Amino acid sequence: MNLGVPVFNIQEDIERIADLVEGQAFKLPNLNCGGCGCDSCYELAREIIRGKESLEDCSALRPETQIILNGKVLALNPFISQMIRGTIVGMLSSLKGYRKGNIQIKIEDK
Ligand code: SF4
Repeated sequence: MNLGVPVFNIQEDIERIADLVEGQAFKLPNLNCGGCGCDSCYELAREIIRGKESLEDCSALRPETQIILNGKVLALNPFISQMIRGTIVGMLSSLKGYRKGNIQIKIEDK
């Protein structure tokens, strides 16, 4: 029977099931932003498990803007990512010495 999804024996394949779910679907940020073309992260996770899509299809996992807060990457939906990028690049581009490239800003908010 071809169900279009991996088939496991629940009693013998627990490790393989855990590896598949942990290694693929649980990395999605659960923003449900639609940036991947799916209505929800759950829908993309299903397609990943079926082998039809991959984690690279999640646009929130490869944004042009990345915010690291206390060592952890914050999940940004595409709209917020573009808004932050546009705002910061807009402000910095007016500064003397500005050049396009990789921008890193460090903020201590204590
Ligand atoms: S792009 Fe990523 S965060 Fe957005 S709905 Fe798809 S899987 Fe979820």
